[in-house]
Amino acid sequence: MKISIPSRARPVPVGKVLCIGRNYADHAAEMDRDVPDKPMVFLKPPSALLRSGASVQLPPQSQDVHHEVELVAVVGQEGKRIPRSAALDHVAGYAVGLDMTARDLQAEAKERRHPWSVAKGFDTFAPLGPIRPAEAVDDVQDLTLRLTVNGDTRQEASTRHQIFSVRELVHYCSQIFTLSPGDLLYTGTPSGVGPVHDGDHLTASATGVDPLSVSVERAG
Ligand code: MN
Repeated sequence: MKISIPSRARPVPVGKVLCIGRNYADHAAEMDRDVPDKPMVFLKPPSALLRSGASVQLPPQSQDVHHEVELVAVVGQEGKRIPRSAALDHVAGYAVGLDMTARDLQAEAKERRHPWSVAKGFDTFAPLGPIRPAEAVDDVQDLTLRLTVNGDTRQEASTRHQIFSVRELVHYCSQIFTLSPGDLLYTGTPSGVGPVHDGDHLTASATGVDPLSVSVERAG
């Protein structure tokens, strides 16, 4: 999948899909986990990306797929070991995204100390909304994230409650990975995660960012 990045003339392929676990204390608590002392990073494959308006496919391997609404930072400029002071200069835009998670497969992986790639990486498990240019977003640490399922609000929180800010996460991840235009950073979910079912309609939003809307259907 290619995405149009603000400030770049041509669409670029989606690169790395970096995701942060447990970046809100209330979500760590609902999962019965401690708050991490450094960012917890995992990846999804680019094949998991899904555009707004399309359908999340429930895979036959899972009976418990959950929604996780997240603010997504879109990398627009290459960098390695980016200082905190310059970190936001590498972010071209923001979108709202969903980190779809096969919770039953994740629980099994945790128990066996296996990685989360399967639980997090199915096709359609990374819906991404329209990208808003970074300059048009006032304060990325003061946005209200919201998710509704069939019109009912299930998740609602401010990004000010992130344990690690977007600036810190870009700095941190760039110590490990070269960040490139088209990379995405899913910055973690607040509390209220829960299951989705065949036929559900999900709408995710963040203040000042265009909403993301997807439906859910059983793969088949
Ligand atoms: Mn997540």
